[in-house]
Amino acid sequence: MESLRFVLPQSEIPTHWYNVAADLPTPPLPPLGADGQPAKPEQMAAIFPTAILEQEMSSERWIPIPQPVREIYRLWRPSPLVRAARLEQMLGTPARIYYKNEGVSPAGSHKPNTAVAQAYYNQQAGIRRITTETGAGQWGSSMALAGQMFGLDVRVYMVKVSYEQKPYRRSMMQTWGAEVFASPSEMTQTGRDALARDPNNQGSLGLAISEAVEEAAARADTNYALGSVLNHVALHQTIIGLEAKKQFELAEDWPDVVFAPCGGGSSFAGMAFPFFADNAAGGHHGKQVRLVAVEPASCPSLTRGKYAYDFGDASGFTPIMKMYTLGHDFMPPGIHAGGLRYHGASPLVSQLYHEKLIEAVAVPQLATFEAGVMFAHSEGIIPAPESCHAIRAAIDEALRCKESGEPKTILFNLTGHGHFDMGSYDRYFSGELEDFSYPEAAIEKSLKCLPQVG
Ligand SMILES: *Cc1c(COP(=O)(O)O)cnc(C)c1O
Repeated sequence: MESLRFVLPQSEIPTHWYNVAADLPTPPLPPLGADGQPAKPEQMAAIFPTAILEQEMSSERWIPIPQPVREIYRLWRPSPLVRAARLEQMLGTPARIYYKNEGVSPAGSHKPNTAVAQAYYNQQAGIRRITTETGAGQWGSSMALAGQMFGLDVRVYMVKVSYEQKPYRRSMMQTWGAEVFASPSEMTQTGRDALARDPNNQGSLGLAISEAVEEAAARADTNYALGSVLNHVALHQTIIGLEAKKQFELAEDWPDVVFAPCGGGSSFAGMAFPFFADNAAGGHHGKQVRLVAVEPASCPSLTRGKYAYDFGDASGFTPIMKMYTLGHDFMPPGIHAGGLRYHGASPLVSQLYHEKLIEAVAVPQLATFEAGVMFAHSEGIIPAPESCHAIRAAIDEALRCKESGEPKTILFNLTGHGHFDMGSYDRYFSGELEDFSYPEAAIEKSLKCLPQVG
């Protein structure tokens, strides 16, 4: 029998993360403050530990993974690389399809890869508490888990509508010892102001970020943690692609094309950047690997946004960053891949896309659920709605191979399982979900509100 799972021994957990900044054609642009000047390190130091800020700005190619972080990674890493042979059969494709299963982490997604590292650096800096926000709950649960591992108190501001609709994500965070408040809350000035304006405010990611940052900035024992977008988050996630490369050596195969879902861009970065390192160095045995970010048609920042300076949050609280954006006050419709509802894409991913070194596609919602169900039928795993975006793109590529007869090797990032998303599957099965492509006029309108720079 042929092997389908390529499992590395724990001694093979990578010892260094890969920093793509070392291989970019031009250095990454710094974030800017309200005055248009590079954001001041002092401002950032109020909410992030020095080690994280150094990683954010580093151009070193390899950054060591601290031993205590590797020891926690051992609880679920290396994650399996699996050949989706039954999916290949179902499609009748000559392509070979592989997925890297990040759903095996205790929180059920790739997000603990960075949450654990961030908790460690904060604990080392003498910080006792972390504040953060969560939309659908995946990031909050990852940070709650990581805080527990390093003895930090974690307070999560959870967007009110999810707090009410996803009670089990909240109980997960509480089981790992975190405090969870529906945002807007009475705990911060931002929250009290929002509630004074509208007592029924259902919250937004932007508001929850503002609450978490306000609290972290005001307390010396407290820092803030973010689950995507920033350079250090992309860095920590590269453990995914670095392991995948070792596993492809075991499989005696190599991908022609790599797909990952793209919200803020951390899971795409984590999978794709280590393969980009080979592309930048002339290719793997001279062969370039295509790297494709897959985003929802309803929140298409790379494929339909503008490469411009914009705020990281909806309220205009954070420094501005050069990225593909739909405008910080872009309101994505209530699509079911909650983790992909972000108005921009990570500056590093954006820069690579702008330089045409990576590709992007947008896929409609119904087709992603259709792909997720095909995956569940053939491979058994019920994928997170976010992951279904990468599965859709991988299936489409495999079907093109069927047309052309090319036996390509396809890799995608299975970023998480969908066990907390069964409500979304229910709505798909009952025909309540629809496709939504954002009207051009609405995108133009929100792009009018970009901050003016230079
Ligand atoms: C958060 C999330 C994503 C998208 O986030 P990125 O910042 O783009 O990585 C994708 N899949 C799952 C399961 C998630 O939880």
